[in-house]
Amino acid sequence: MSDIALLPSVSQFLGRDHGLYIDGGYVACSTTAKLKVINPANGEVIAQVSDAGQSDIDCAVNSANLGFKIWSKTSPAARAAVLFKLADLLEQNREELAQIETCQSGKIIHIARAFEVDQAAHFLRYYAGWATKITGETITPSLPSFAGERYTAFTLREPVGVVVGIVPWNFSTMIAIWKLASALTTGCSIIIKPSEFTPLTILRIAELASEAGLPPGALNVLTGSGLVGKALIEHPGTDKVSFTGSVPTGIAVGKGAMDAKLTRATLELGGKNSVGFLRDIDLDKAADGIIEAGFLHSGQICAAAERFFAHRSQIEPIMEKLSQRLASLKIGSPLDEATQFGPVTNKQHQQKLAGFFETARSENSTIVYGGKLIEGPGCYVEPTIILANSINDTLLNEETFGPIATFFPYDTEEELLHLMNNTPYGLSASLWTNDLSKALRLVPEIQAGTVWVNMHTMLDPAVPFGGIKSSGIGREFGSAFIDDYTELKSVMIRY
Ligand code: NDP
Repeated sequence: MSDIALLPSVSQFLGRDHGLYIDGGYVACSTTAKLKVINPANGEVIAQVSDAGQSDIDCAVNSANLGFKIWSKTSPAARAAVLFKLADLLEQNREELAQIETCQSGKIIHIARAFEVDQAAHFLRYYAGWATKITGETITPSLPSFAGERYTAFTLREPVGVVVGIVPWNFSTMIAIWKLASALTTGCSIIIKPSEFTPLTILRIAELASEAGLPPGALNVLTGSGLVGKALIEHPGTDKVSFTGSVPTGIAVGKGAMDAKLTRATLELGGKNSVGFLRDIDLDKAADGIIEAGFLHSGQICAAAERFFAHRSQIEPIMEKLSQRLASLKIGSPLDEATQFGPVTNKQHQQKLAGFFETARSENSTIVYGGKLIEGPGCYVEPTIILANSINDTLLNEETFGPIATFFPYDTEEELLHLMNNTPYGLSASLWTNDLSKALRLVPEIQAGTVWVNMHTMLDPAVPFGGIKSSGIGREFGSAFIDDYTELKSVMIRY
């Protein structure tokens, strides 16, 4: 097989002189600084985007405040209609968006189509449905009545204002959609700051949002470095930050938001997610489960599992079966439809993973499979299996965000629970067993925002998602996001 041909519209888009998307259209950046966007599959520069300066940031915030005035007064049904139209437009431009995403992130084209477009449209429609269903409540106060006066009270859910959406590079389209859909359905306006590694698809989506009827300023996109995100959070004209990214940056973002003016913050951070195989598990099912949990999109998924615990008697056969599965993966160009395993998203990340391989060797962990970079201009690393030497091994404790499954044996179920919870993080975990009764008894003992049974990594817009412990604050999806994007106003009336 060979690479699919890029659509003419993709080549045309990549070749543009990309400005900043403010007030419903592109404006020239105030600085001449440019950021190169590099295709991680071959190291080629595919586009350049602007690096926003302070006056661009002021301009975007001003526009978002004006946009908020209009959008927050737009009826819920009209807001929903725009978001539904945008979902249709994502699907109508499916191949173009998927190809742009694959070129900038190295995500294999199947995943770009299925997740970055199809799933993004699915999530967008789910959020759109909420616009007409956000309600307050009525309350009867118990205040004393001295002369026959009575009281009633009700609550209003009001949009929080101008949201700053900061998006990482791993799912630059889908995560941007989660943020803009949460903001727009509740009546907020939003400024998206994509990762400097993957800034392109959201610029195209901003154009589609205008085509769908979104008023100017309701969605602005500022490309640039992390400093642009920092300046937006600390800007007096913004009201909330919704951040998805690493734990250290998330802590800095949270501090910056609090220091600015108690700016509201939702933090969706990383983790070190665990998988526990109970003894009754079928070994082939376990091996398939690890591919799903740890190797989809080369492990670059916040909810992906990185620590795998199997009973001492089963750990060797499970790793053996997994090695066979990994050996059969077709590694190659992400634009080749036959490819099952592509590059990681950038050179820095590839080098970071190389550092983890060295650390594993220096700590005498056993590298069961892989453990090297793949030579060439692209950012490829081998899918890797590691058997940790002790529970203190770095690979069992630090997030790698790569295609590395680290194993450790357990002897008793008490030990399994201790191992699964022995991490400062708590984003996700999964249990694999044929004994659902036992699984349901163990679920409450597991410290994670999401616990899957016989599945891992799969997200649904109706099911709240977010971290406990150091994996974040706040929830996305379900109805839970409404609390984070609205303020609750109480109204009391004497009559
Ligand atoms: P980073 O934390 O490095 O960056 C995330 C975003 O923050 C980028 O847009 C980055 O911009 C921006 N940024 C960097 N510094 C600042 C700052 N001081 N203030 C404001 N914004 C800043 O994460 P990665 O992009 O490397 O993404 C990988 C991480 O994201 C992993 O840890 C992963 O677990 C986590 N993640 C969590 C998810 C969840 O839902 N819980 C989902 C997906 C990923 P720039 O790129 O330009 O530096």
